[in-house]
Amino acid sequence: MANNEELFKKIIAHAKEYGFIFPSSEIYDGMAAVYDYGQWGVELKNNIRSYWWKAMTQWHENIAGLDSAIFMHPAVWKASGHVDAFNDPLIDNKDSKKRYRADVLIEDHIAKIEDKINKEIEKASKRFGEAFDPQQFVSTNPRVLEYTSKIKDISAKYASAMQENDLAAIKRLIEDLEIVCPISGTRNWTDVRQFNLMFSTKIGSVSEESDIIYLRPETAQGIFVNYLNVQKTGRMKIPFGIAQTGKAFRNEIVARQFIFRMREFEQMEMQFFVRPGEELEWFKYWKEERMKWHLSLGTAPEKYRFHDHEKLAHYANAATDIEFEFPFGYKELEGIHSRTDFDLQRHQKFSGKKLQYFDPEINESYVPYVIETSIGLDRMFLAMFSNAYCEQTLDDGSVRVVLGLPRMLAPVKAAILPLVKKDGMPEKAREIMDMLKYEFNLIYEEKDAIGKRYRRQDAIGTPYCITVDSQTLEDNTVTVRERDTMQQERLPVANLEKYILEGIKPVLQSPSLKF
Ligand code: ATP
Repeated sequence: MANNEELFKKIIAHAKEYGFIFPSSEIYDGMAAVYDYGQWGVELKNNIRSYWWKAMTQWHENIAGLDSAIFMHPAVWKASGHVDAFNDPLIDNKDSKKRYRADVLIEDHIAKIEDKINKEIEKASKRFGEAFDPQQFVSTNPRVLEYTSKIKDISAKYASAMQENDLAAIKRLIEDLEIVCPISGTRNWTDVRQFNLMFSTKIGSVSEESDIIYLRPETAQGIFVNYLNVQKTGRMKIPFGIAQTGKAFRNEIVARQFIFRMREFEQMEMQFFVRPGEELEWFKYWKEERMKWHLSLGTAPEKYRFHDHEKLAHYANAATDIEFEFPFGYKELEGIHSRTDFDLQRHQKFSGKKLQYFDPEINESYVPYVIETSIGLDRMFLAMFSNAYCEQTLDDGSVRVVLGLPRMLAPVKAAILPLVKKDGMPEKAREIMDMLKYEFNLIYEEKDAIGKRYRRQDAIGTPYCITVDSQTLEDNTVTVRERDTMQQERLPVANLEKYILEGIKPVLQSPSLKF
């Protein structure tokens, strides 16, 4: 754990040092849980967004895009349930004056018990060697069984307290589990209170007449209220989807883990409208489809796992998270939810407008059911960035820091480097730059020795370094150095575009054009 913490600190420092992410308003000492993306950060973020957008709207004929406003009619958030129920239970430690999410304190406590189980499994697997059967071990070992039943008991108590909105019971649970504040080490807790996560502001210039409005805490509602507009004007037939990316705002109580949990962040959401009764089939489809998208980036499959929800929100009939192994453990990266017709029914009720779809195939009108896929762009950034960071010891004992990003996401696709700053090499390099810059984001660099320039490109994840040398001037060939292998090959300048295009393709397992 200590090692991972060290690593995470290095990743955060690297993000700042190389112009990926800066603390917001840094000259005023920054703001908790708000960050700015620097010159390479914005490129990486744009590339992730555009790859998601393409996968949704370009690979699927039946998914349309949308860009709805951040401000929405206040009734939207009444209808969606956010005004009444978008709360987190919070608790303060009276000694450290630190504020915590009560649910997170309990989850962390459960995670510690899970760690103990994993340690038992590890120990036993060493002891028994090849013959070890983990399944049998966890279902028979008395110590593990005791831990498992403890977890079940805590989860059940917590779930029932949440269901009943019984905040006193949550406090009792924290006390019974003897959870201490990590800062003060004491158990001197306040009562648990509910805290609404929406930011509010006022619209209009005359304050008496002004209405309270909210900064949207999710982009999905903009899709729901526009679903018939898109369906009618785009002549969409069910099943169809609407995709949207954009900022969302949540007044998170605990801001931790860098850009994992921010107060202003970006979501990439798609709502897929289906016939009632067919939603679980489509839920399964989107579960697989989204995992395929992640794997198409070439990241090791063991970095991802599904976490199916056993306890479902009242409006959902199936839900799963795609979790990613961040430096601080497996955490939610994306949520896939079968939301039934809950949102559309509520909007129908609150707006008084019919939100039914007429299905010509079965000659029936109904309110569609919805499958949602929802991923945080910043979280995806952190997943890719932290996974890519690597300190590699080379044969000569030196260490290079290389950002092994999926090539297609790399902020800069190639650096064009004249070997020396004379003999016509810079001019030739500029010529190559002009030839390729409409297709790719490039860097031109002529300062410092070539080895140093390579290292700088490694640190920002540039997949290719194209070097112009004296031979280039004779036969119009260049050397191309690949980031991960550091192998160099000589290529004709005329082949560069095709070569790079080939190198930045996704790893597609099978085309997804099912409908
Ligand atoms: P969490 O349990 O981590 O708070 P959530 O279940 O509330 O997340 P959703 O409402 O399902 O999250 O939002 C969908 C996605 O948006 C999440 O999977 C995550 O990637 C992203 N997301 C949610 N909250 C934040 C945040 N505060 N900062 C960055 N990304 C976020």
